[in-house]
Amino acid sequence: MATPALMQNYGNRTLTLVKGEGNYVWDDTGRRYLDALSGIAVCGLGHCHPAVTQALHDQARTLLHVSNLYNIPAQEQLADRLVDLSGMDNVFFSNSGAEANEAAIKLARRLGNERGHAVPKIVVMEGAFHGRTLATLTATGNEKIQQGFAPLPEGFLRVPYNDVAAIEKLAIEHDDIVAVLVEPVQGEGGINVPAPDYLNRLRDLCDRRDWLLMLDEIQTANGRSGKLFAYQHNDILPDVVTTAKGLGNGVPIGACLARGKAAELFTAGSHGSTFGGNPLACRAGLAVLETLEGEWLIERADKLGAQLLEQLRQQLAGCDAVREIRGLGLLVGIELDRPCAELVELARAEGLLINVTAGNVVRLLPPLTLTDAECGQIANTVGTLIKAFTRRAA
Ligand SMILES: *Cc1c(COP(=O)(O)O)cnc(C)c1O
Repeated sequence: MATPALMQNYGNRTLTLVKGEGNYVWDDTGRRYLDALSGIAVCGLGHCHPAVTQALHDQARTLLHVSNLYNIPAQEQLADRLVDLSGMDNVFFSNSGAEANEAAIKLARRLGNERGHAVPKIVVMEGAFHGRTLATLTATGNEKIQQGFAPLPEGFLRVPYNDVAAIEKLAIEHDDIVAVLVEPVQGEGGINVPAPDYLNRLRDLCDRRDWLLMLDEIQTANGRSGKLFAYQHNDILPDVVTTAKGLGNGVPIGACLARGKAAELFTAGSHGSTFGGNPLACRAGLAVLETLEGEWLIERADKLGAQLLEQLRQQLAGCDAVREIRGLGLLVGIELDRPCAELVELARAEGLLINVTAGNVVRLLPPLTLTDAECGQIANTVGTLIKAFTRRAA
């Protein structure tokens, strides 16, 4: 079906979506689907939210792009807004999540170079996902993503997720560590939710060792976790935090925010992007932040997340194939005791878009605009499908 003119890196795609509105998308035969994936945590406000559409329309008629050789008012406004809301000091804008993480990695390298380390080390986690560029796929804790792309850049040390003692141990063996890079909840890795005080303990460790705490909030930020940034659940501030996915509600934009000494590492010429922070993307970002706040959607994500977990637990009570149902806000995962990629097709047949990650985890990332009825419908459909699927395949 797909044209051979495309590289085959995405495998076989069998669904063609041509229209979206609110929490629904339509395929090329006119069939409607409830979207419990939001374009992988991107369209948190639902599809084609009028505030974003209006902002894009206005900006498209005014000015699309000028490059970073010039002041860009919308970029400055979005940076001011993000700094206010995050407690961070400043922002670099990119066009994607991986690029935001590249900026974070470059900040850590810059600090390491200043400190005179020949190969400064960044601690990263098993099960992590940080992107597909060479540096970010090296930081990613999944060998399949790295295979065939040697040589990989050096300077990363890996430990198990949610294990502070393992990092303490590394600190004794290595005197050239400069940063810890970690997701507050692992998304691609299977919606892995760490101990509630994990980030607090990492903050404390990084303070004691004078390392940068760098959080990858590309999937968790923009209200999805029930706070604008997931670290706000822990009452800490990172030194560096990256975000992307939900920030533009579908318009490509990423951001790397820094604080304190990390905010002063880049100087004129140390980093850049032609498109990064262009007027169109920044207007979208401003509309997203305004809508998240104006419509109380972050509080809504918190409440809906608890509701969805509760309803799934009810639906799946007594289903032995379910290992765990877990989540934070509208990042929800159902881990089964077996591979379950087939569930994606089965759900689609019921008019529901979901995803399976890490082989055996059903991942739900619905829009923050979900209604109570739609939340119930997701729990019902997914619960019923998992019960039937695991009975059949047992
Ligand atoms: C999606 C994601 C990325 C990569 O973002 P891209 O925009 O695909 O480059 C990095 N980190 C996390 C946690 C992600 O979920």
